[in-house]
Amino acid sequence: AAKDAGRGGYYFYETDLHAEAEARTALEQDLRSAISSGELQLFYQPVVSVATEEITGFEALLRWKHREHGWISPRTFVPLAEEKGLITLIGEWALMTACHDLAKWPENIRVAVNVSPLQFANANLPSIVMNAVAQAGIDPSRLELEITESVFLNDDGEAAAMFATLKRIGVRLVLDDFGTGYSSLSHIERAPFDRIKIDQSFVRGATHEGSRNGAIISSITSLAVALGMETTAEGVETFDELELVRRYGCSHVQGFIYEPALSPEAALQRLAGGLNAMAQGKRVARSPRESV
Ligand code: C2E
Ligand code: MG
Ligand code: MG
Ligand code: MG
Repeated sequence: AAKDAGRGGYYFYETDLHAEAEARTALEQDLRSAISSGELQLFYQPVVSVATEEITGFEALLRWKHREHGWISPRTFVPLAEEKGLITLIGEWALMTACHDLAKWPENIRVAVNVSPLQFANANLPSIVMNAVAQAGIDPSRLELEITESVFLNDDGEAAAMFATLKRIGVRLVLDDFGTGYSSLSHIERAPFDRIKIDQSFVRGATHEGSRNGAIISSITSLAVALGMETTAEGVETFDELELVRRYGCSHVQGFIYEPALSPEAALQRLAGGLNAMAQGKRVARSPRESV
C-alpha cells in the first residue's frame, strides 16, 4: 500500500476513466433504443436569403431528449454514434424523417441533412437517399446533403465517385463547416458542391477590429460565385455580423439572429407567419448604416 501512496492521482485517474467508460456504455445502450422510443427528434433551423430575408430552407439538426439526463447535444452523441457504429441507422432515420417533414412544406423550401463521413463511406448511401426521396414523394433537388471535408481524408478516389452518384440522383451537395480542419481549395474544385457553408468561427471573429476574417469570407464567396455555388454564413448572431456577411457577398445566413433550430411545428409556423420580428426590427431600426 505504501508504494501506491504516491500514485493516488493515478489511481483516481484510472477510476475516472473506468467510470467514464461505463457511462458511455450506458449511453450507448440508451442511444440504441432512442430511435424506437421517440427520444430522438429533428429540429429545423431556418436558412435565410440575404437578399430577401425570407426563409429558403431549413437545416435538420438532431436532438436527443434523454429520459434522465434531459437534452443531450449532438456534439456529444453523434461522435458516440459514429464510434459505436450506430450512425448509419440514425442517419437513415434522419434522412427519412427530414424528407417526410419536407413533404408538408411549400415546394420552394429545401431541407439540408447532415451526413456523417461514415455514412458517406458506405456504398448503400445512394439507395438510402433515393428511398427517402421516393417514400416522401419529394423532388430530389429540394434535399441538400451536408458533408464536411473530412470525407477527403485518406480518399483514394471513392469520394468523387460517391459525389457523382449523388448528383445523378438529383440531390444538392453542400460543403459544411468550410474553413475548419483540413480545408483546401482543391476540395471545392474536386467535388460538385452546390453550396459552401462558411464556418461560424470566421463569422464570429470577422467583426473584431483588425480581423482578417472578412477578407477570407470575401474570397470564399467570390470563388463560390465564380463556380456557380451559393454560400451560407453559419452562426450569425448579431446585426453587425449580418451586415458584414451581406457586404462580403454571402447569399444565405443561418443563426440565432433569426432563429435557433425549431420544432417541426414551430418551423411550419415560421413559414406561415414569417421570421422572428426582432432581427428584422433591428435591421429597420439601424438601416441608415447600410448606406455607409
Ligand atoms: P453543424 O452541422 O455545423 O450545425 C450547426 C450548429 O451550429 C448547430 O449546432 C446549430 O444549432 C448551431 N448554431 C446555429 N446558429 C448558431 C448561432 O447563431 N450561434 C451559435 N453559437 N451556434 C449556432 P447543433 O444543433 O448543436 O449541432 C452540432 C453538430 O452536430 C452539427 O454541426 C453537426 O455536425 C452535428 N449534427 C447535428 N445533427 C446531425 C445529424 O443529423 N447527422 C450528423 N451526422 N451530424 C449531426
Ligand atoms: Mg451542418
Ligand atoms: Mg456547419
Ligand atoms: Mg459548424
